[in-house]
Amino acid sequence: STVDFVLYLHEVIDRFDMIAANKNIHFIRKISPQLTYVKMDRDKLTQVLDNIISNAMKYSPEGGNVTITLEHYGQNIRVSISDEGMGIPRESQQKIFDRFYRVDKARARSIGGTGLGLAIAKELVHAHHGEIWVESMYGQGTTIFFTLPFTKNKEGNW
Ligand code: ATP
Ligand code: MG
Repeated sequence: STVDFVLYLHEVIDRFDMIAANKNIHFIRKISPQLTYVKMDRDKLTQVLDNIISNAMKYSPEGGNVTITLEHYGQNIRVSISDEGMGIPRESQQKIFDRFYRVDKARARSIGGTGLGLAIAKELVHAHHGEIWVESMYGQGTTIFFTLPFTKNKEGNW
């Protein structure tokens, strides 16, 4: 279906605000208000965002900020989710989208998970004709970016 993406993104973050409050994590929204329709499977996109946002919370310290940004580049939107957490070493950055890959077994064991969240996110973003990638500084934080094609009207036309 065709979704008003700005409205949709705020709804997704609203739902996380409640959970984040327990860990004293604060969401900063940098969401361009430009009217943006995306042809997408709403449940699948929600799974993408849930996986990325829950990672940002899970791998961040108490009191950290998670910044969610929506920008427009030509006929694509770019969403980014940025945290102030432990970061990912350079040599692991390309592997985090692989099934069952988890950075540092000792670190991973103490934080629950199966290593599937980002592999699923990648598959679903690709199915929507988008790209997904990571930028991270070990010890400083991580940003996950993804793109999706958008249109200006509900019919999916420009
Ligand atoms: P699951 O999502 O299946 O519960 P998971 O979180 O371990 O388990 P992924 O979401 O696929 O699996 O992430 C893969 C690995 O990438 C994680 O184990 C973690 O080491 C690293 N990672 C992912 N997101 C972040 C982040 N925001 N900060 C630091 N490390 C991260
Ligand atoms: Mg995960």
